[in-house]
Parts: sequence; structure tokens; C-alpha cells
Amino acid sequence: QFEGITMAPPDPILGVSEAFKADTNELKLNLGVGAYRTEDLQPYVLNVVKKAENLMLERGENKEYLPIEGLSAFNKVTSELLFGADNPVLQQQRVATIQGLSGTGSLRIAAALIERYFPGSKVLISSPTWGNHKNIFNDARVPWSEYQYYDPRTVGLDFAGMIDDIKAAPEGSFILLHGCAHNPTGIDPTPEQWEKIADLIQEKNHIPFFDVAYQGFASGSLDQDASSVRLFAARGMELLVAQSYSKNLGLYGERIGAINVLCSSADAATRVKSQLKRLARPMYSNPPIHGARIVANVIGIPELFSEWKKEMEMMAGRIKSVRQKLYDSLSVKDKSGKDWSFILKQIGMFSFTGLSKAQSESITNKWHVYMTKDGRISLAGLSSAKCEYLADAIIDTYYN
Ligand code: PMP
Repeated sequence: QFEGITMAPPDPILGVSEAFKADTNELKLNLGVGAYRTEDLQPYVLNVVKKAENLMLERGENKEYLPIEGLSAFNKVTSELLFGADNPVLQQQRVATIQGLSGTGSLRIAAALIERYFPGSKVLISSPTWGNHKNIFNDARVPWSEYQYYDPRTVGLDFAGMIDDIKAAPEGSFILLHGCAHNPTGIDPTPEQWEKIADLIQEKNHIPFFDVAYQGFASGSLDQDASSVRLFAARGMELLVAQSYSKNLGLYGERIGAINVLCSSADAATRVKSQLKRLARPMYSNPPIHGARIVANVIGIPELFSEWKKEMEMMAGRIKSVRQKLYDSLSVKDKSGKDWSFILKQIGMFSFTGLSKAQSESITNKWHVYMTKDGRISLAGLSSAKCEYLADAIIDTYYN
């Protein structure tokens, strides 16, 4: 009976927010969960989202079920945003796209596809990676192993280690890659390194599997943040891409994203799409309509699209400016001469501080700074006003 069920451990990321809520100290700072906050540390709803919602109300749209594959206007614009509207892979109809339950749900559908049609194939994930990747593949019963990614000595990319591990993986493995703004490290390969990764993946007949959760949010440019995916697509490779609109459009709770499968032919794409729908149907029947309409309007209406790009630049810009300010504060306050410039080299909403698990716990206990135990901080949860306090906390924790 239910009496026999044991207590599940708290989620390592969402658990941080729960602990933060319970803390009554005024100085407390939540750098755990990756959600954008304003300079006043308040949640932010984009103006373009409000405009799109108003439009939807005016039109008096109904709430009927979507088809299993989601809103067709959304599927069209989301694949165009990803690959670029004039990409030949779209003109050739080689991409199977279905709407998913944000990034997570889209990854989960892709995992189900791998489990069903590539039984025994392994997924290689970076070490470290977003904590939920392991849950997703475990849940889908897809075997996975890790490739080296983070080098603690340089707080940078262990490119040689990454190459070695991708080379050593059995032919035809799926290689999970963060399209931009690697979570949790904030460390991305350079364009030259991406080329080498693509060479190797092609050589080994591996299948690239991109997780794109930050398009436009990392650099402020939608095209630049999609350049890794487009580089692989231009080589004629088959690949998978999960997309999320949680961060770049601030649609966290709307659960809106997509899974795209780039195939070798239009025929294969049609067949793959039919199977994606077959996988989705028993899991959740069909995806939510509200967020899909918001995205379809924002991308599809030129005025909203250009306003979105400005708002995204503003969000990305605020994050870059607190990144700079945190670095400046650390450099001024740390008298040891330690080089903190790795913080400036990282991109996106996260920064790896190099703090150990014990130090991450200690900074929470002593300074009321909440972060994940891997030493990751979300800069989106930091304001300029709090940078000095955080620098004091990091330095005190680092050397004590
Ligand atoms: N992948 C990565 C790397 C992420 O950081 C996130 C968000 N934290 C996601 C996927 C998916 O988030 P969501 O399900 O909200 O789209």
C-alpha cells in the first residue's frame, strides 16, 4: 500500500527556492533557480507578451484542444527561429517539429524517441550538466554516460577531455550539447571548437542532440545563439533540437517549447513526426494552447518581433552588467591577486564560481546567499546593488 512509499529527496535546484522562502533574514539572496529578475529582484513579464495576450483576448480565441503536434503556426515559427527562415533544411521540409511541454517536455519526448527507435544507444551528457538531464534519461530508460567538459583548474572548458570522450563513445551515440550558454558552467566552445566537435561527431556517426534553452537570451542575438545548431545543420547532418521559451520570452509557467528532428529527407521527417505524435499522445494528449499562441504572435507579427528583440537585449544586457560589476567587486576586494576573469568569459544567466559543495553550503548558512551545491549562481537573480555584498560573501567563503 501507500504506507510503504518512502520520502523522495528534495530537488537540488527547486529545493533551493524552498529553503530561501523559509529564511527570514533581510539580506537573503536567491541565486538558485534560473529565472530572470528585474533590478528590484522582481519577476518580469515582457511587454510583448502582454501585447500578444491582449490581441488574443480581442480576437476572442477559443480554448479548444490543439492537435497532438501542437499549434501549427507555432511549429512553423519556432523551427524558423531556430534554423533561420531561409534555411534550406526547412525549404526541403526535412525538419519534423512538434510542440512540447517547454524544454523539459521536449527533451523527454526526444528521449522516448531514442528509447523506442534506437534501443541500447547511449546519450552522452556533459560533466557537469543541468541536473534534470539525468532524471529525464533515467525516466525514459535511456542509458547515458558523461563526457568531460569542465576544467576546475582553469574554470574553463576541458576541450581535450571532451574530444577524447566523444571519440571513445560507441558509434552512433547521441551527443547532448547545450546550444548556447551552457548550464551550469556558462562556458561555451568557441566557433573553432564547435567545428572540431562537428568533425568528430560526423566521423563517428554520432547524432547531435541540442538543448537550446537560451536562444537570444545569452548573447542578446537570436541568430548568434543559434549558430552552433546552424553550423551542424549546414553540414547536412541529422540532429535533434529541444527548444524552450521559458527564459527568452519569460514564459516559464506556460510550458512552451518544441522538439525538432532534422532528417535526411522530407519523407523521413514525415514518418518521424508521426512517431513523435504517437509518443506524445499517451503522455499528455496535446500541449497547452496559450503559450503557443503568444509565441506564434510574437514571432509572427513584425512589430512584436522587433520589440521582443529589444526586450531580450535589455534582459541579456542587465545580466552582463551585473556579471561585470560582480567581477569588478571581486577584483577590488580580493587582495590575494587571484584572477577572477573566468567570470567574464562565461555567458548566459549562470556563472560557475568555483565554490565547492561545502563552501556553497557555508555561504548559505553564514551569508544567506542561496545557490545550487555545484557552485553555480544565477546572475539573473542578482542586482547591481547586491554585487558588493555577494563579492564579500564569496571572498569570505573562498578563503575561510
Ligand atoms: N535545458 C537547460 C539546459 C535548462 O537550463 C533549462 C531550464 N533551466 C531547460 C532545459 C528547460 O527548462 P523548461 O522546461 O522550463 O523549458
